[in-house]
Amino acid sequence: MSQSAQNSPYEPPFRVGHGYDLHRLDRYAPLGRGRPMVLGGVRLAAGGNAEVGPVAHSDGDVLLHAITDALLGAAGLPDIGQLFPDTDPAHEGRDSGEFLMEAITRLAADGWSVANVDATVILERPKIGPHKDAIRANLARLLAIAPGQVNIKGKTHEGVDAVGQGLAVEAHAVVLISRVGA
Ligand code: MG
Repeated sequence: MSQSAQNSPYEPPFRVGHGYDLHRLDRYAPLGRGRPMVLGGVRLAAGGNAEVGPVAHSDGDVLLHAITDALLGAAGLPDIGQLFPDTDPAHEGRDSGEFLMEAITRLAADGWSVANVDATVILERPKIGPHKDAIRANLARLLAIAPGQVNIKGKTHEGVDAVGQGLAVEAHAVVLISRVGA
């Protein structure tokens, strides 16, 4: 091994990233502060007692927030809260797809492309099963990758704790990014 190689740490052409987010749920305005429920950029119709939505400065899309943070984290970039502070009026009610687009743009500028995304949404109601294909397709569109590179799982919290009591929704996401052309 040459001296220069010894001094250059190996940088693999891929990285993993993890993202997590949670939003409190409340009844829709004007009864509460909840916004319409949007997951992965797809509006979920109210069902059961699901006349609740996320309390948020932006549109409260917990899944897009988790994926955006996973992408930014993988690339070693500032997180979503740093890039889009919830104290900035410019982000009031903002479409979280724009946060994801900004992350993708920053990754591309650093020479990264998205290999795959795997995410879990934890929500008591409504069930996301009927919406999974639409969410997957929309995420693939936003990320400019094939639907087969995106996977979404829906779970409940078994009635336990705040999420289980329908007081919050949360999402976890992992992503793999790779060097363009690698
Ligand atoms: Mg959030």
